[in-house]
Amino acid sequence: MERLNQVDQIVDEVVKRIQAQQLSFEVEASGRHIHLSRAAVDALFGEGYQLTKVKDLSQPGQFVCKERITLVGPKGMFKNVVILGPERSASQVEVSMTDSRELGVKVPIRESGHIEGTPGVILINGERSLKLDKGLIVAKRHIHMTPEDAKKNHVVNGEIVKVKVSAARSLIFDDVVVRVSPKFATYMHIDYDEANACGLEKGTRGMIVK
Ligand SMILES: [Zn+2]
Repeated sequence: MERLNQVDQIVDEVVKRIQAQQLSFEVEASGRHIHLSRAAVDALFGEGYQLTKVKDLSQPGQFVCKERITLVGPKGMFKNVVILGPERSASQVEVSMTDSRELGVKVPIRESGHIEGTPGVILINGERSLKLDKGLIVAKRHIHMTPEDAKKNHVVNGEIVKVKVSAARSLIFDDVVVRVSPKFATYMHIDYDEANACGLEKGTRGMIVK
């Protein structure tokens, strides 16, 4: 009988581990980057210029561009800031809180696309420059999820969850927004401040803890 109990326990443990593996997702760190509108590309690179794709990102259709630009704030600047494509309806600049101190701007934490009332910033490409009057944000940490994975995890679009990230400095992140779309691949995105806080490495996984 005791043998059987032990076997049951082992089976239970294995099932739990498999479930955990299935429900977990890769966590990726996003460095500071810029999304540009068509008008911004025209202003910074010339009328009709097409950005050059160099690498696909984990989210389908999203990519890293070859072109880099300079970001200028009242106190500091960043050169060689990566542009992510494709073009968007509105320009958006995503920085970490550490970056925001260096720029000398108080930057609010926002979900991507929610840029009403956010500060602007100056973008420079060689001789050309563009002053954005809004669009500078610290991206709210989030999980991109397919509808299938959302169902498995019992979460809905817009839900706020806690995520345990198992890494060198394992951490439970609170206030993580779940974004569900059939256009997404399931990945969690945090910025470099957050990645360093948990000792993130390539392949680090997270799991929703209720
Ligand atoms: Zn993201």
